[in-house]
Amino acid sequence: MSLEKFAVHTITTKPWSLDECIENYARQGFGGISVWRDTLVGRDPAAAGRKIADAGLSLVSLVRGGFFTAADPAARKAAIEENRAVLREAAALGAPAVVLVCGATPGQLPLENIAQIEEGIEALLPEVERTGVRLSIEPLHPMYAADRSAIVSLRDANALAATIDHPLVGIAMDVFHVWWESDLECQIQRCAEAGRLHAYHICDFKPAFSDPLNDRGLMGEGVIPLRTIDDWMQAAGFNGLAEVEIFSHQWWACDQHEYLQKIAAACRSIYQEQA
Ligand code: ZN
Repeated sequence: MSLEKFAVHTITTKPWSLDECIENYARQGFGGISVWRDTLVGRDPAAAGRKIADAGLSLVSLVRGGFFTAADPAARKAAIEENRAVLREAAALGAPAVVLVCGATPGQLPLENIAQIEEGIEALLPEVERTGVRLSIEPLHPMYAADRSAIVSLRDANALAATIDHPLVGIAMDVFHVWWESDLECQIQRCAEAGRLHAYHICDFKPAFSDPLNDRGLMGEGVIPLRTIDDWMQAAGFNGLAEVEIFSHQWWACDQHEYLQKIAAACRSIYQEQA
């Protein structure tokens, strides 16, 4: 396995522009890229997509859509409209999928949030079919259940995707969010057997993090059994790219060229000798 089996999310090297991400990821030998929307502001997405293809990088996903929940019906409608725009942007960019952070509204019951998420995704299905862009539901760690996502386990995500039951709606599995689940291996299998295992995000979980959102670890810095989970992914038949997605004030403050080399080294040392 070479670095060609790995992609990098632009948020991982947040100080860089999209052009710097494309150039440096390709030069380092990574196989792909997932593009965060903030890097597209003021740019023509079709031209950005061509630049990515010309650099030899696979475009995995546009990140991100979602945030479907709100107490006010007008706000929920606006969120659906915004997600339609995200799907069109993904289609113009040439991204095969959009990652969804589904949303949660403080004061609503988890089940109310989940019902609104289901309604939001179902409202998008005509646009999904028209564009051919897949939706990948990303379950988040339960520490984000109050205000970021009511979908807080791979079990929840599998259940939601099964309820929606659409061939273009699947799941993005991020080790940071689901590593703790006691039945993770079964849930990965279940997801893959249903044809819904769209994406695979990697980083690490540092138990003594200083910030719940922006202190994620580089692979090897934390407690996630990365190799074991990777074995489960391979056994389930996942053959897409492993996407490095790290939010970290600490790493963003470092020289991003040195950091990218550390990421490459971590990918090699943790996953390389496996095959
Ligand atoms: Zn992720």
